[in-house]
Amino acid sequence: MIVTIDGPAGSGKSTIAALLVERKGFAHIDTGAIYRIIGYIFHNGPTKDDIDRLKIDFKIVNSAVLLEYNGKNMEKYIRSEDIGKLASNVAKLDFVRHYVNALSRKIVNSSSNKNFVIDGRDAGEVIFPNADLKFFLVADINERAKRRAKETDGDVEKIKLQIFQRDEEDTKRDLAPLIQPKDAVVIDTTNKSIDEVYSIVNKMVDNV
Ligand code: C5P
Repeated sequence: MIVTIDGPAGSGKSTIAALLVERKGFAHIDTGAIYRIIGYIFHNGPTKDDIDRLKIDFKIVNSAVLLEYNGKNMEKYIRSEDIGKLASNVAKLDFVRHYVNALSRKIVNSSSNKNFVIDGRDAGEVIFPNADLKFFLVADINERAKRRAKETDGDVEKIKLQIFQRDEEDTKRDLAPLIQPKDAVVIDTTNKSIDEVYSIVNKMVDNV
């Protein structure tokens, strides 16, 4: 089964994906993490040649999809809002999007895991248009900034501005902008607990 979760920064995508991993044994592809790694490696933007030569490796350990560059797990380098901004910049390039989409599909196709959850901005619309279930999470910007500030130990007002700008860029770009897939289930997570959101998702997953 393929489940996609799209939505803006801080809407709860990765939290819900993590629960599908933990409670239902789904494997999770965080497509934003791939853009972040590319933004981290190529601070000034990659050329097409850079991307043709780029090798991001993956392995699946206990349902977790681990991404590596030069044999190194990149997780601890990529979570800041500054890297989020670099990710958003590289995400405007068609050859980068092509790379991320191909890598995401390759991970699914080469895995013995039966069930995948993929989160991002265009996971349901572009990468896996035939997904069994598509979710689109939204939340008020103040709430999203608070969540990100807590996660990264940052300043709420500064983060609010940064994610506002990132949302604007992600929504207004020409290529695969952040839009709600027509066939997605929309969940506003602003005033819902993680358990409440998960419970909606879980029920729908069980009914597929
Ligand atoms: O989800 P996350 O905040 O980690 O994503 C970082 C950036 O990567 C986003 O702001 C967006 O520009 C880009 N992205 C994208 N398409 C995806 C996932 C992420 O354009 N499927």
